[in-house]
Amino acid sequence: MTSILVAGGAGYIGSHITCLLLQMGYQPVIFDNLSTGHIESVPEGVKIVVGDVRDTALVTSTLLDNKIEAVVHLCASSIVSESVSDPLKYFDNNVCGAISLLKAMSAASVSKLVFSSTAAVYGEPTRVPIHESDQKLPINPYGASKLMIEQIIRSTNINCVAFRYFNVAGAGFNVGEMHDCETHLIPCIIKNTLNQKPAFIFGTDYNTADGTCVRDYVHVVDLAVAHELGLQRLLKGQTGFEVYNLGTKNGMSVKEIVSEIQKLINVEVVLKERRPGDPAVLIANADKAENELHWKAERGAAEIVKDAVKFHVDQESALRQKKQ
Ligand code: UDP
Repeated sequence: MTSILVAGGAGYIGSHITCLLLQMGYQPVIFDNLSTGHIESVPEGVKIVVGDVRDTALVTSTLLDNKIEAVVHLCASSIVSESVSDPLKYFDNNVCGAISLLKAMSAASVSKLVFSSTAAVYGEPTRVPIHESDQKLPINPYGASKLMIEQIIRSTNINCVAFRYFNVAGAGFNVGEMHDCETHLIPCIIKNTLNQKPAFIFGTDYNTADGTCVRDYVHVVDLAVAHELGLQRLLKGQTGFEVYNLGTKNGMSVKEIVSEIQKLINVEVVLKERRPGDPAVLIANADKAENELHWKAERGAAEIVKDAVKFHVDQESALRQKKQ
């Protein structure tokens, strides 16, 4: 069995990737400090090493002890607003974390890496849909930290497939999004509604068809599939650094997403001022992933919303039962 280290495997995206790898016959091993990840998201039978990715010695011994052939790197701080208020945390955790991982991979002679990057590397887009080669001028430390890591990996001899995620949402494999500090549209609206609180729409005066921001929402299970395809390429011997946008090539406005959720639960909406730093429209051109990896997002907004609502309803009822 091929052993894969999933660094950050107890988090939202990492736990979906781990479940998919397990289902496909790989042997995933998780490395996670559980700062934002959850031990309950680790599937039965999967080994977890609890530690900080900046602990190079621990990462090195984990790679060697488990005969790891490739790494999926997802450990990162990822709240944009926090990155603005505490930039050094982001550069330390994200950039120093990646450097430590690269040192460990070199020490353990592991040369294959799938890296989790972000559409935030582009900043304000110069055109939409956004192509991988378009201008990259991040407007917050989170995006800057991810772009720096891409540049660092490029200058090493690690073979890497990097993915720039657009708006990841949805749930699968009985795991889902469980952030203590939730800022993303779909979980915020669902969680607020389930807790009898209103949901907020930030900004209705954007230059878009209905005045609200447009984003490219990609189902987390589709995203996990892309990571496995990236791993396959590396395990078959692909060398160098390749980067791919992961999105659906379709934009949905905030109001359209709210309407999708309203088909399932009764959302009360409050209109608010714009949230600082939100570009009006972000849509991926994902032709490169389609042409080279034969990847295409299979699940649309209705399925994303349905799976997210189901996950949060189940979570809430489990929480209520626990309290009783
Ligand atoms: N948004 C909103 N209400 C919320 C959370 C987000 O209206 O409770 C908006 C946000 O202003 C942005 C869009 O939804 O226009 C997507 O935001 P999210 O944080 O999900 O992703 P981002 O594109 O910022 O990474």
